Amino acid sequence: MRVILVGCGIAGAALSLTLQRAGIDHLVLEQASELAETGAGLQQSPNSIRVLQYLGLMDELKRIGVAPQAHLFKDYKSGTVLLKTPLMPKVEEYFGAPYYHVHRADLLGIMVNAMDPANIRLNSKVSSVVETRNGVEVTLSDGTLEKGDVLIGADGLHSMVRQQFFAADAPRHSGCVAWRGLVPVALAQKLGFEQNSYLWMGPHRSAVLYYVRGGDLFNWVGISPYNDNAKESWSQTGSREAALKEYKGWNSQVTDLINDTESLFMTALIDRDPLDAWVTNRVALMGDAAHAMMPYHAQGAGQSIEDAWVLGRCLEMAAGDIPAALKKYETLRLPRANRVQQQSRGGEHLFHMSDPEEIARRNARFAKHQQDDRDGFPAGQRWLFSYDAEKAVMGTDDEWRALNW
Ligand SMILES: Cc1cc2nc3c(=O)[nH]c(=O)nc-3n(C[C@H](O)[C@H](O)[C@H](O)COP(=O)(O)OP(=O)(O)OC[C@H]3O[C@@H](n4cnc5c(N)ncnc54)[C@H](O)[C@@H]3O)c2cc1C
Repeated sequence: MRVILVGCGIAGAALSLTLQRAGIDHLVLEQASELAETGAGLQQSPNSIRVLQYLGLMDELKRIGVAPQAHLFKDYKSGTVLLKTPLMPKVEEYFGAPYYHVHRADLLGIMVNAMDPANIRLNSKVSSVVETRNGVEVTLSDGTLEKGDVLIGADGLHSMVRQQFFAADAPRHSGCVAWRGLVPVALAQKLGFEQNSYLWMGPHRSAVLYYVRGGDLFNWVGISPYNDNAKESWSQTGSREAALKEYKGWNSQVTDLINDTESLFMTALIDRDPLDAWVTNRVALMGDAAHAMMPYHAQGAGQSIEDAWVLGRCLEMAAGDIPAALKKYETLRLPRANRVQQQSRGGEHLFHMSDPEEIARRNARFAKHQQDDRDGFPAGQRWLFSYDAEKAVMGTDDEWRALNW
């Protein structure tokens, strides 16, 4: 079997490693001339870290990651902690895999380092794909033709594979932008930030803050209503004055952080509507190409990594029947990823609500959870974090299936 992958982001790299582990012949075609992830932090929860464990990346992950102690949900003005849920080490004891914050360039870097260089070709933009009865033919923008038995679209939010085979739909603009910056550890410590994952919630906007790069850098992302100059781009710079204007009236711990950030970036937040099919007989989607989502539950890359393990293992166990393997992958993965996509849209309202009575009801719910819950993990986290991609493939995930979000 020869698998052709379009795209070497986190999804494509994770699938390449899964196929490599199984000894499956494959080629990753990446349009970029070098593999340098832009952007900043990623939170990775036990459901995706478990796959990185299966892929043998834990030593490297410990080196680049930061293990936060807790999630702190805070009021935007007073800084009061409205809800505190445990992370490390309790999350590892409870779910069997750790929680890490990483810089996305570091995560992609350790994945690419583990890939056999023979399996990846840079400067290779795929311009069209033809599915035949027994395989796929891929044409690159320089006219090169590649043939394989199956094609995987891991080509991100603006996926041409999705467009060509599954839906000619347009990406959905959320009406929000993400501001972001990275500051040195000394500055974050001076401002009083500890090794936690912080989510500050205020009317129409929020901010998420945490350490990355083994604790050397502090990452922040602020999400606020749309500014009509914003494009969807990880490298678009933003003005400090404009960001400070958005966060006017917020606690000085947040505004001082913004004020002291040297380079500030902004990107429009865009997602996709869920699809009801991700596979044909010989073509499949994964990662953002299949389920680009809002970042409120920090799961986009995590779901891509889960996809990679399940898809790679289905192909490994295909016994020559590729259409059946792809169908199994879709059956196992689509309902979960679509649910996360839907809940991620809902996160915007939960974290950005502005009606005082509704805020009071939400905060009372948080307080009740804090008081009542034995182990401290909200139902949504249990449903997200308990998932074991290998158990899903083997059909031994009844415990997870009994959970709800
Ligand atoms: C503000 C923000 C915060 C986030 N925080 C988190 C978080 O904390 N945790 C988390 O898990 N997720 C998070 N995410 C989501 C995460 O960034 C994405 O879900 C993830 O990076 C998707 O990876 P991907 O490989 O599917 O797509 P991409 O990273 O977009 O990779 C696609 C690749 O395909 C290549 N490509 C595209 N078209 C072609 C073509 N025609 N030919 C060849 N190559 C092609 C591209 O060059 C690219 O390298 C966040 C997202 C945002 C916007």
